[in-house]
Amino acid sequence: MDRLILIFALAAFISTLVGGAIIVKFRKYLPFFFAFAAGSLIAVSFLDLLPESLELAGSVNIPVRYVMITVVLSFFLYSLIERFLLTHHIGDHDDHNHIMGPIGAGSLILHSFLDGAAIGAAFRINASVGLIVALAVIFHDFTDGINTVTLMLKNKQHIKRTITFLVFDALAPFVGILATTTINISESVLAIMLAAFVGEFLYIGASTLLPETRNNLSKGVVIAMATGIFLIMLLTSFI
Ligand SMILES: [Zn+2]
Repeated sequence: MDRLILIFALAAFISTLVGGAIIVKFRKYLPFFFAFAAGSLIAVSFLDLLPESLELAGSVNIPVRYVMITVVLSFFLYSLIERFLLTHHIGDHDDHNHIMGPIGAGSLILHSFLDGAAIGAAFRINASVGLIVALAVIFHDFTDGINTVTLMLKNKQHIKRTITFLVFDALAPFVGILATTTINISESVLAIMLAAFVGEFLYIGASTLLPETRNNLSKGVVIAMATGIFLIMLLTSFI
């Protein structure tokens, strides 16, 4: 495997772990992390993943409409996953359902696997697309770590079990990267995969991360989101 990809796999691992570890101490800064991650995920969807998906689709004669339908269906599918599996929200509404912690954290692990798959798929296009997607995913893996720990603790899970889930969540992107870089993927499948990641990332950015920032009225949240967006704009302009 490419050494660069290994480095990103490691970064995703560390980012998730650090996110999970700092949640207890730095709770009041969470809205800024969420806003930054939302901005970068939405920007990377429109400025990198979608254009690449469309370009690739064009080169293998897949109609634009199929790509767009994939985006919409993926968005919808993600909303279903959230609805049925995740009690995802960091807000105040508590439900002390013991099974929801592991189920929610388990589906976050699946999601983190897909995060890794997105990095691997982007690297299949070329190294610069891979780089930008990897950065956006790694920023946001930080919030995945936070969400895993929050979900487990909120649902009254033991700290040991919480750490186990956090470690699995941190390892999952690595497995995802490994899968998409070692298994042979045709260009048509890759185009559709990228479109599916667009739907997923848009959902996570707009519907999972941004709502967590709504209760914080400080300018910092706006600045954090703008920073996420402009960073990706800058990267996609120059890399
Ligand atoms: Zn993620």
